[in-house]
Formats: sequence, C-alpha cells, structure tokens
Amino acid sequence: NAESAMYRAKDKGRNNFQFFTEAIDLEAQRLLELENALHLALERNEFIVNYQPIVSLSDPGTINCEALIRWQHPTKGLIAPSEFIPLAEEAGLIVPIGEWVLRESCKEAASWMKLSENSPKISVNCSTRQFQRVDMADLVTQVLKETGLPAEKLCLEITESLIIKDDDDDIQNQLERLNEMGVALSIDDFGTGYSSLSYLKRFPISTLKIDRSFISDVNAQEDEGALVAAILSMAESLKLKVVAEGVENAHQQNFLKERDCSFIQGFHCSKPLSGEEFRKFLKK
Ligand code: C2E
Ligand code: MG
Ligand code: MG
Ligand code: MG
Repeated sequence: NAESAMYRAKDKGRNNFQFFTEAIDLEAQRLLELENALHLALERNEFIVNYQPIVSLSDPGTINCEALIRWQHPTKGLIAPSEFIPLAEEAGLIVPIGEWVLRESCKEAASWMKLSENSPKISVNCSTRQFQRVDMADLVTQVLKETGLPAEKLCLEITESLIIKDDDDDIQNQLERLNEMGVALSIDDFGTGYSSLSYLKRFPISTLKIDRSFISDVNAQEDEGALVAAILSMAESLKLKVVAEGVENAHQQNFLKERDCSFIQGFHCSKPLSGEEFRKFLKK
C-alpha cells in the first residue's frame, strides 16, 4: 500500500545517504592512510631518484639528464611516480617530497662535476603546488649553496598549468629570480596543456619538452610528425631549445635530427637509470 511504499522510499533514500557518507569516509580514510604512508616513506628514506639521459643531437658528447622519483616500498616493491605524485599533491606532501628530490638531485649532479669538465645538467620536475606553497627561488638558492651545484647546472621542469593564470605576479616573480640566478626553466609535456602560447614570450623559458604523445606520431610507415615539425620551427624562431620526450627508435631520432631538434630523451637512448648506472652510462 501507499504508506509502506512511502516508507520503503524513505528507507532507500536513507540508505543512499548512508552509502554516500560511507563512501566519503572511505575516500577520506584512504587519503589519510596514503598521506601517513608517504610521510613515513620520507622519514624512512624510501624514495629514490633515477636519472634518464637527455642526449644532444648536435653534439653527441653532451649529455644531460632528468631526475625521476620512485618509491622503493618495503613490501610492494618499486612504485611509479604516477601512482603517488598526484596524491602527494592532493595531500600537500609534494612540498617536502619535491624538496627532497631537488636536494638529492643537486647533490648527485654536484658529484658528476668531478668526472668531467662538461658534466651533465640536471632537470628536476616541479609541481605547481610547490610554487604556490613555498618560494622556489629561495629554496633553490639554499639547496645550491648546500650542495655546491652551480645554478647553470640546474633546470626546473614546470608545466603550463603553472603559468596558465597570467595575473599571478608571485609566480612570475619566482620564475624571473630563478632565471636571473642562472637556473634554466623548461616546459614539460609541451603541447598537452590548454593555454595560449603568449606565455612563451612573457616568462623566461629556455626549453620546450615535446610530449611523448606527439613523438609517437612519428612512425616509419607514414610520417605523421606534422605537429612535431611545427613545434620545432616555432621553437627555432623563438630561440627556444627543444627536448623530444619518449624517443623510442632510430626513425624518430632521424626525423628529429633532420629538423634540428636540440635534444632527445627516451628508451632509444636509455631508460631511467640508478645513480650508479648513470655514471657508467657517462663513461661509455
Ligand atoms: P615526465 O616528467 O614527463 O617524465 C617522463 C616520463 O616518461 C618518465 O616516466 C619516463 O620514465 C617516461 N619515459 C621516458 N622515455 C620514454 C620512452 O621512450 N617511452 C615511454 N613510453 N616512456 C618514456 P616516470 O618516471 O614514470 O614519471 C612519470 C611522471 O611523473 C613524470 O613525467 C613527471 O610528471 C612525474 N614525476 C616524476 N618524478 C617527479 C618528481 O620528482 N616530482 C614531480 N612533481 N613529478 C615527478
Ligand atoms: Mg619531466
Ligand atoms: Mg614530460
Ligand atoms: Mg610526458
């Protein structure tokens, strides 16, 4: 009857409501647990940095590299950054984790200076959150002083999301001070953000890193590298260096070399390496 139907509906609504609050509780709990685990991981030194070579196409003797974080979990094994960086960003932990990566990378890069005169520059990924929560120019100044790495050996990789708001004086100020110090700035995953290109003139950017998704369009059967070619010619007229990400074969390398791409990074040259493996790579 009508009355019991009404009760059933009410019950159902209540259950739905309960279901939602439980789901929210679970999500909050999951985040809290992950946040704790990331805190512990930092304390217990479970993060490691891998170094992926960035090879010059005009001068094969010049090798730089990108620092890529991994989490060496005691029971779960090696965890990729895509599994924990977004959550670290959400939980605010990207600030101490990012500071750790920066310090570790600069320490390592300073040690390479004893190996050769033309020692590799290191590129460190930075999250937008880091620039919002701390003054990166101050932090970098401090870390370079501590580790003895010259500013010219450091590059920070930022994404278009950092400069998407063109009215952010604070971020513009940090980037300008970093540039004045001699730290290079590159745009990571270039071409995947939805932003106008005008920022390339406003901000002191020196390098574009073409996203892997565009490089994978360049294949031996049909050359579909139209976007890559367009980015390269734009970069040339703006006097920007270019790193092609995710270069996996000789055909892609040749395509890029013919179009004067400055640097390539990808499995074709090397996968990301441990500190020790990277030193061996440099000797070869
Ligand atoms: P990313 O900065 O664009 O780094 C390049 C990614 O492409 C790396 O993945 C690298 O291993 C992978 N890769 C390089 N060459 C090839 C290739 O030839 N083929 C394919 N399929 N992949 C290639 P990884 O190390 O898993 O890092 C993923 C992302 O996590 C990075 O993308 C970066 O956005 C983020 N990340 C890594 N380390 C850090 C860090 O220390 N801080 C922050 N904030 N983010 C980081
Ligand atoms: Mg990167
Ligand atoms: Mg990238
Ligand atoms: Mg990418």
